Formats: sequence, structure tokens, C-alpha cells
Amino acid sequence: MGKLDGRVVIVTGAARGQGEQEARLFRAEGAQVIVADVLDDQGEALAKEIGAAYVHLDVGTEEGWRQAVAATKRAYGRIDGLVNNAGILRFNALVDTPLDEFMQVVQVNQVGCFLGMKAVAPEMTDGGTIVNTASYTALTGMAAVGTYAATKHAILGLTRVAALELAGRRIRVNAICPGAIDTPMSNPARLDPDADPEETGRALDDLYRRLVPLGRVGRPEEVAQLALFLTSGDSSYITGQPFVIDGGWLAGVSII
Ligand code: NAD
Repeated sequence: MGKLDGRVVIVTGAARGQGEQEARLFRAEGAQVIVADVLDDQGEALAKEIGAAYVHLDVGTEEGWRQAVAATKRAYGRIDGLVNNAGILRFNALVDTPLDEFMQVVQVNQVGCFLGMKAVAPEMTDGGTIVNTASYTALTGMAAVGTYAATKHAILGLTRVAALELAGRRIRVNAICPGAIDTPMSNPARLDPDADPEETGRALDDLYRRLVPLGRVGRPEEVAQLALFLTSGDSSYITGQPFVIDGGWLAGVSII
């Protein structure tokens, strides 16, 4: 028996990275999965491989969400889970950040999460689950990613409010806060077809050996396990909470 047997779950930004691993794991645990992304070729190929459905969805658009919800209901008749995973990152000092760039990150990360809950929750089965992808930077600052950090802090606020408002329908809403995870977002070399994935992973581990108590970068498969916990009955009494998965990075600094 799978942990998600009979459940229908939408995962956004699922064409690659953490969303891909969530889609793979959820499918393996018996869920019907809707892979939603703007990367159509990759998303369609993944959906075909794992026996899921693909929908094109730009999470920052209301019309995109309307169509994704309608397509899910057409294909499976119900929605039991949503993982708001899609996100983008831009590097800039706050005072150097153009307003357009700030608004672009807000539109995808923050508005995307808001619109996802707004579109899906009314259509969701009572007792459903929502997992919002925040970040380590939702709970602390990090220079050069101020826009991103602002949106991830906002996602925690949205998560807490949604948990309160949806608890009457037993819909649980939680957030995951990954530290450094080895995906194309934090390791763009993963997108280079000529790069050796093992080698780029090792280079990232070298960087984080000094920063992270567990001495390595996280794997998207590990984040997927946390998303599974929060989507399955294993977390039946948990709602409105942020869950940090960061190898101990946020625990503090070591002086020896
Ligand atoms: P990634 O860049 O590999 O994947 C992000 C996915 O989101 C891609 O498939 C991309 O096409 C999709 N996407 C981007 N804009 C979209 C839009 N407008 N509509 C729909 N899909 C869109 O990165 P990842 O690491 O897998 O990121 C997944 C989530 O985890 C993001 O929310 C990210 O902010 C968060 N996160 C990542 C890290 C990390 O170190 N990798 C750390 C903390 C949080």
C-alpha cells in the first residue's frame, strides 16, 4: 500500500529539481500526480515516464490556475493535494535591485503561492493538504537574495493564515524551508549537458562542508520525503507550521 493511494495531487514547478522528485515519489506512493510547469518538454517527458498528467501552468496567472484546476478535475474528478513548489531566484543587493526584477520574483514565488491556494482550496476535498515551498531564507536573512527572502517570508505568513482559515474543512497547510539543495536553482551547472553531475555535486558539497553542520548540500529526494510526510496521513495533526530541512544550517554557527 502506498502512502498516497487514491489521492490526486498537483505539484507545481515539477519539470525538474525538487518538484520532479516530489512528483516521482508521490506517484510511487500511489497518488495520481499532475505535473505543472512552464517547461513543457521536460514536464511532458516526466509525466509520460511516471504515468502522470502534465499541464502547462504559469503559477503567477489566475487564468493558468483556472485551466490547471479544470484539467485536473476533468482527468481525475477531484483534488486532494497541492504542492506549491515553483519558484525563481535572482541575485542582487537590495539597493541595486530593479523594481521589475523585484516584481518578477514576487509574481512567481509569492503571488504564485497565493493564487495556487486561492484556486485550488475551494475545489479541494475536505481533509486535503497544501504544502508551500518556502526556504531557509524565510526564517533568516541572506545577503544578495533580498527579493527572494522577502517572498519566502511572505509564504510563511500565507501558510499560517491559510491553515487557520481552512482548518474547518480539515485542510492542512504547511511550509517546507529547504537550505541548500542540489538542483539547477542552486547549482546551475546541472543544466550544462557537458558537466559531470557527480563532479558538480561534489563541488557544491565542498562549498557547504564549511557552512552546514551535516557537511554537505541537501538532495532534492530528501526534500521530497518531507513533502510526502506533510501530504500523507503521517502528519495528520500538523498544520500551519514551517519545516526546516537544511542539514543544521539554521541551528547556529560553530566557533571551533
Ligand atoms: P529549479 O529551478 O530546479 O526548479 C524550479 C521549477 O519551477 C522549474 O521546473 C521551473 O521551470 C519552475 N517554474 C519557474 N517559474 C515558474 C512559473 N512561473 N510557473 C510554473 N513553474 C515555474 O529549483 P528547485 O531548487 O527545484 O526549486 C523548487 C522550490 O524550492 C522553489 O520554490 C525554490 O525557491 C525552493 N528552494 C530551493 C532551494 C535550493 O537550494 N535549491 C532552497 C530553498 C528553497
